[in-house]
Amino acid sequence: MRKLLLTLFLSILFIGCATTPMTDRKQVVFISTENEIAMGEEAFREVLATSTLSTDKEKIAMVERVGHRLAAQVDADFNWEFALIESDQINAFCLPGGKVGIYTGILDVTETEDGLAVVMGHEIAHAIARHGAERMSQNMILGLGAIALGLSTDSGDRAKYLAAYGVGSAVVVALPYSRKHEYEADYIGLILMAKAGYDPNEAVTFWQRMSEAKGGGGSNLAEFISTHPADDNRIEKLEAYMPEAMNYYKASIHR
Ligand SMILES: [Zn+2]
Repeated sequence: MRKLLLTLFLSILFIGCATTPMTDRKQVVFISTENEIAMGEEAFREVLATSTLSTDKEKIAMVERVGHRLAAQVDADFNWEFALIESDQINAFCLPGGKVGIYTGILDVTETEDGLAVVMGHEIAHAIARHGAERMSQNMILGLGAIALGLSTDSGDRAKYLAAYGVGSAVVVALPYSRKHEYEADYIGLILMAKAGYDPNEAVTFWQRMSEAKGGGGSNLAEFISTHPADDNRIEKLEAYMPEAMNYYKASIHR
């Protein structure tokens, strides 16, 4: 136990201090970036192996176009991949390392390419701000027994990792992001999409459609809504970020 505590202490000391990109928030993360990316790679392969990929060339091209335009705004050494998964589920995720999964079901809610940029920007924001690693680190503080979590890629740990990035699996239920993480991902995503030349106002209409869809119920929506909890303040916050985002948008479309 003493050894375990010492390991924990040293881990916090060496890799415990991180800062989120664009918002400069201090965070406690004791999973190294390298480890996170390796796990993202492995987890992505697992998701793809158990999913049906879309064959719709037009939609695949759109997902890749939006993805690459957003990725070009990100300062991270990621090996980006964008997969369109054939599924009625309204869901999307981005794992560290730039492994993005979009479920065809969410395209009915995003409606347009700008709408898709809202979702992809938001998911990419969760990954570059290392929200999953932060959540796992919080859980590690709560339960010292899970200290090895960041160091192993066995299937149990991989499932927890997927859950921390909002990907449900047969083994573990995806964890909801906190409001703090949601607002932060909204902000970063909004700036990313604006810089990439997508109209940030689409974020407001997307989340309005999302809350309407939620009102109508439907199990296809369950996972995304439970992992990305929306509340009435979200639209207000987005509108507060809008002037800054619009400056980037105007600059990008006049380039
Ligand atoms: Zn989210």
